[in-house]
Amino acid sequence: MKEKTKFNRRDFINTGLRIGIGAGLGLIGVGLSTRSVNGKTTWQIDPAKCIQCGKCTTECVLQTSAVKCVHVTDMCGYCDLCSGYLKQGSKELNTAAENRLCPTNAIVRTFVEEPYFEYKIVEELCIACGKCVKNCGAFGNGSLQLQIQQQLCLNCNQCSIARNCPSQAITRVDTDSPYSLKGFKDLKIGG
Ligand code: SF4
Ligand code: SF4
Ligand code: SF4
Repeated sequence: MKEKTKFNRRDFINTGLRIGIGAGLGLIGVGLSTRSVNGKTTWQIDPAKCIQCGKCTTECVLQTSAVKCVHVTDMCGYCDLCSGYLKQGSKELNTAAENRLCPTNAIVRTFVEEPYFEYKIVEELCIACGKCVKNCGAFGNGSLQLQIQQQLCLNCNQCSIARNCPSQAITRVDTDSPYSLKGFKDLKIGG
């Protein structure tokens, strides 16, 4: 289990999370943009470039976007004050609807042991708004990331999200290449 986070509840409520927790951000996205493309390719997001602009929600040709939030549990601090789960400035730090950041309630919080909580994403509910990703990246470990889910994606010749992405975060990569992100090392794209 990881070391307890260094900020307290009053900091969170009054100032909106000034202090980051843990390490690992430097490893996000390394290698995706330099991966060779040979033969069969697929679209993927480089989380290091993504600015959570909201277009992953609105620009996919599918009615519900093929992009979903993914939780890299290896990077997670299991924080009780999770900045990806709780709204900044919440009056009470509990699971009440008014305190939750996710607009679709796609993040499930489960108590592990004091003061640790586990967070899971319900893929069917995620609309790829990126709110949790932005807050976890700004105030936490950056363990929440947006990724195109290959089992949902149509692999369009021209990905309409990629065309509209303001940070050119979506590129074609070799289908057989694993993600080179910390916590993704055992996953195959499209696998
Ligand atoms: S369109 Fe690009 S910058 Fe915007 S959320 Fe998607 S990947 Fe991130
Ligand atoms: S806050 Fe947005 S990106 Fe995060 S799990 Fe909820 S719907 Fe998905
Ligand atoms: S390739 Fe098509 S289906 Fe896949 S994320 Fe892009 S627009 Fe959506």
